[in-house]
Amino acid sequence: MAMGYLNGKFINSSDPVLPIDERGHQFGDGVYEFIRVYNGRPFMMHQHMERLFKSSEAIRLNIGKTVKDIIAIVEDLIERSGQANCDVYMQVTRGIAPRDHLFPNVEASISMTVKPFKLISDDIRKVGATVKLLPDERWQNCWIKSLNLLPNILAKQAAFEVGALEAVLVRDGFITEGSSSNFFIVKNGEILTAPATNHILHGITRIAVKEIAMELGITLKEQAFTPDELLAADEAFLSSTGLEILPVTEVDEQKIGNGCPGTVTVTLYEEFLKRI
Ligand code: PMP
Repeated sequence: MAMGYLNGKFINSSDPVLPIDERGHQFGDGVYEFIRVYNGRPFMMHQHMERLFKSSEAIRLNIGKTVKDIIAIVEDLIERSGQANCDVYMQVTRGIAPRDHLFPNVEASISMTVKPFKLISDDIRKVGATVKLLPDERWQNCWIKSLNLLPNILAKQAAFEVGALEAVLVRDGFITEGSSSNFFIVKNGEILTAPATNHILHGITRIAVKEIAMELGITLKEQAFTPDELLAADEAFLSSTGLEILPVTEVDEQKIGNGCPGTVTVTLYEEFLKRI
């Protein structure tokens, strides 16, 4: 069952509960996390918590709870939902207060939802995804997992409208990441991905990819690369909590490598599945 949580209460996720003065709603003034639960176990929970607290610190938002408190709420929510395989979204906002840009003197607002997860279809996984290159129009602090997702939404929609699964963003001539995923290429057996600067979200699945590559003895370089290098790559793939590790076989109607999911990508994914 899909369920929700808002400021101490467990609710139905469809209950109309958000007050009109909620700052997440009016300003997008908050941060969020998305955690996948496999067989009742939240995957890489500790890393998600670390990122949540870093993001909220970066926007000077005091969550008012400890990591332990948040984990206890997530575990309670999962148990109440009766789902072993589900997606948990959590939002922390600067609270509920009459509209004013200045920080209000109120407690943070914490909401969560839990729902069954949607795995990407086997067909896409076998064939590989198509992506579209688009300009990265986001701000300078993409490492903060902010609720403000308008440029990401517009890019993803533009990609979808030409039949692509993801928008891959280009800033100053270099590929940063997907609109809701990190992006990698493979060339001559080496993996390349944009460095973890302020211009990308430091993805948790990206951390898993780095760890797996290290275990397998595959070189992974955190090094910026261009659209031309992407088009000349042997393989490409996306990583995110929702997509896990997904091969990309076509970019702007051009095939990558031989047009099929590459062996490095497939091997990384097999290892990833062993971890969940
Ligand atoms: N980049 C962006 C912009 C994202 O929104 C996401 C998904 N949250 C990611 C990368 C992937 O991060 P993660 O692996 O933590 O889901």
